[in-house]
Amino acid sequence: MLVLQNFIDGVWRDANSRKTLENFNPATGAVYGSIPDSDSSDVADAVAAAMKAQLGWAATPAEQKFLILNKIAEGIDAKREELAMAESMDQGKPLWLARNEMIRSAQNFRFYATAAMQFASESHSMEGKAINYTLRSPIGVVGCISPWNLPLYLFSWKIAPALASGNCVIAKPSEFTSVTAWMLSQICSEAGLPHGVLNIVFGLGGSVGAAMVEHPKVKAISFTGGTVTGRHIASVAAPMFKKLSLELGGKNPNIVFDDCDFEKAIQTTVNSSFMNQGEICLCGSRVFIQRGIYQQFKERLVAEVRKLSVGNPLQEGVRVGAIVSEPHYKKVLGYLTLASEEGGVFLTGGKALHPEGLEGGWYIEPTIIEGLTMANRCNTEEIFGPVISIMPFETEEEVIELANATEYGLAATVWTTDLTRAHRVANALESGIVWVNCWLLRDLRTPFGGVKNSGVGREGGWEAMRFFTEPKNVCISLQ
Ligand code: NAD
Repeated sequence: MLVLQNFIDGVWRDANSRKTLENFNPATGAVYGSIPDSDSSDVADAVAAAMKAQLGWAATPAEQKFLILNKIAEGIDAKREELAMAESMDQGKPLWLARNEMIRSAQNFRFYATAAMQFASESHSMEGKAINYTLRSPIGVVGCISPWNLPLYLFSWKIAPALASGNCVIAKPSEFTSVTAWMLSQICSEAGLPHGVLNIVFGLGGSVGAAMVEHPKVKAISFTGGTVTGRHIASVAAPMFKKLSLELGGKNPNIVFDDCDFEKAIQTTVNSSFMNQGEICLCGSRVFIQRGIYQQFKERLVAEVRKLSVGNPLQEGVRVGAIVSEPHYKKVLGYLTLASEEGGVFLTGGKALHPEGLEGGWYIEPTIIEGLTMANRCNTEEIFGPVISIMPFETEEEVIELANATEYGLAATVWTTDLTRAHRVANALESGIVWVNCWLLRDLRTPFGGVKNSGVGREGGWEAMRFFTEPKNVCISLQ
């Protein structure tokens, strides 16, 4: 049994209550370990440790911060295989994908290690009258809360800029996927991160997460997760005037015009639909295909999706692994029942799968639904599983209206070889991110986040460094 412990003030310890939660392996459905079931007293201890460490870390020279963060990146690289195995077992994702995500987690630390050295702020000159300069100081103690779909990647995406900009951090991974966050605490300790600078508290959202949001000394919350949770966090944090970054859900359109590069659009659509069992906030779950190629595209997509091997995440060649948890598995299956009731027709999948020897695990066949409209809940609510809906469209104007017809606005993908149309459509889409003729191509310097109910604020590059610092303008008279 793998027993995790909280990481507070540089030491590992059980929850104050000694309570634990069972940790499941989604591939088998079996319990293989436990995580601390922490509460507000553990969060209070973590905040006290962070406050003690704060002045020292803020005053640490940028080069020293760079060296430590870079060492953490090296530590992740050195343990890549171990981390990938742990992530795959904990989350249900195929091992090859977990390996990629470990590379990207190290890149997050490396990227923000250099940001610590490069970050600068502005000065504004007033034609001989005065000069303004803007100081950017760390906020102090900040909270980072992450979800279960890309566990270490999203955890590091928040923690790295928070540390690089001189804050001390209380961090909480999802209760469903805590193992790599715990392994990260060992890597950080070995890299020489001073005690109290990063504190990781494990447990449920309603207890640990809520205590972080409510704690008056936690001055900012960077949250990635569901829209409902985000709304609740905002309702608690906003009256306390905390800085908030909310990266929430999506119902992303994937728009395929009939002049697309057909082969590239097919292969990428398979990935953008089903990678990580469709459990990526950026997956395109509504696929709009222009009428001229609808039939041909549909037939090829169905043929390619039927080829996807679903099963044991640790097995070579498996493209789609297990769904992260039993509650989520049931939620996705519930949407499949609803899709039938709403008149949808399953072109592939539509049901659970029980691979031999893994009957206790949570598997769902990659599912393509045809026949739904934007009046259906399955086309407007986030399902977050291996499920897409395909729909034909006639004109550019029509597809823009359909694409924008949800409360979400996280990411969109456009397939066309018409350059002018690509720009026009990208401009018209209500979305924080638009990919043209590609998907999930990420430059860490670019702003990342959503519009509408997909979130508030942006992560990535300087955006994150600005979020995690407080600007102060100083105006000096020159007369
Ligand atoms: P979730 O909202 O249930 O949980 C996210 C995190 O918040 C977890 O750590 C959870 O323990 C914690 N939490 C739950 N209740 C809380 C509360 N009251 N106060 C504070 N913290 C609380 O989301 P999830 O099911 O873990 O993740 C899936 C969701 O995340 C999907 O909606 C997906 O679209 C979204 N997501 C968004 C992005 C993005 O960048 N926009 C990236 C990945 C995932």
